[in-house]
Amino acid sequence: MQRGENKFRAQQWFQWVYQRGITDIDAMTDLSLSLRSSLRADTELALPVIESENISRDGTIKWLLRVDDGNAIETVYIPEKSRGTLCISSQVGCALDCTFCATARQGFNRNLTAAEIIGQVWIADQRLRAMGKSKHAITNVVFMGMGEPLLNFNNVVSVIDILLDDFAYGLGKRKVTVSTSGVVPKIDTLSQTVDVSLAISLHAPNNELRNELVPLNRKFPIEELLAACKRYLSQKHRRESITFEYVMLDKVNDSIDHAKQLCALLTNVRAKVNLIPFNPFANSGYRRSSQQAIDQFSEVLMQGGLTVITRRPRGEDIAAACGQLAGKVVDKAHRDSHYVRLYERSMLSRRIATTCA
Ligand code: SAH
Repeated sequence: MQRGENKFRAQQWFQWVYQRGITDIDAMTDLSLSLRSSLRADTELALPVIESENISRDGTIKWLLRVDDGNAIETVYIPEKSRGTLCISSQVGCALDCTFCATARQGFNRNLTAAEIIGQVWIADQRLRAMGKSKHAITNVVFMGMGEPLLNFNNVVSVIDILLDDFAYGLGKRKVTVSTSGVVPKIDTLSQTVDVSLAISLHAPNNELRNELVPLNRKFPIEELLAACKRYLSQKHRRESITFEYVMLDKVNDSIDHAKQLCALLTNVRAKVNLIPFNPFANSGYRRSSQQAIDQFSEVLMQGGLTVITRRPRGEDIAAACGQLAGKVVDKAHRDSHYVRLYERSMLSRRIATTCA
């Protein structure tokens, strides 16, 4: 909003809200009385409301945050020795239907506003400080909570601007990661708009399997996705790599042959592979790969020259691990009935198959 004020007023405002955590406009004493009264008249500082806070045995913290009458989202803080990562949600639920993800089962309600997204960081920061953690407990922010960030593009970009701003959170651009299931056109727009780290939820090394696990692949197949990744990396100022996330599903995508296919796919891409042992949830229909399968898979990738990290599940006892976030979603897409239909259809095709055999 244009107020005819000097730019440093905006910087002061950012410092009050994001660095000092002050939401009472009257307490912002270095703003003039007239500016404070005009801000009071037309500015609302509203935050999501903490509905619950759960702390895992391993120190991971999960907050359930109410964003409106019917919906709540989840935000997770993952402390490690040398860093603290905050995993934030970008949508209420998710519309993408990845078969192994708990959020998908919740259905989709709406995009979060930029305020609701940055509000997660504000709340986590304040709670961590109240718990006596350092002022810099949050060193990294990842868009790996509920939702597909690139389908809420403008709000996500506004939030990234605040995360990187020295007068707000001042995070380095390598410390902010956008993770996507592969919304190809938006990967290009992202690369032209902001400079942050990119993670791709790949999960399968060929289109046939990826079409099944990540249905968005039917719209943007692997070749198109990797071409977009190469364009992203070819931007002059980007010398680093893209992280490819790969959930390890027992006997689904974890064979040695899958690993070899993945190596072939990622030659010529500056890639880091992040293997994520599947995190279970009720009626998922999947099991986590055995440790042996994960080790073998990882070995093949490393022999193929890839950098591989196996993600250690965190916060499992409070259902805060990757893919377990569910929140409370009023499902506008009626995903429940959608699943019933899918289930019935698969039973029907099985019946047809048996009848024809
Ligand atoms: N929609 C974005 C952001 C979500 S990130 C994306 O897909 O990238 C959450 C990450 O956890 C993704 O890589 C997702 O595929 C992965 N994930 C989802 N369900 C999982 C599960 N049950 N176990 C392990 N990882 C899972």
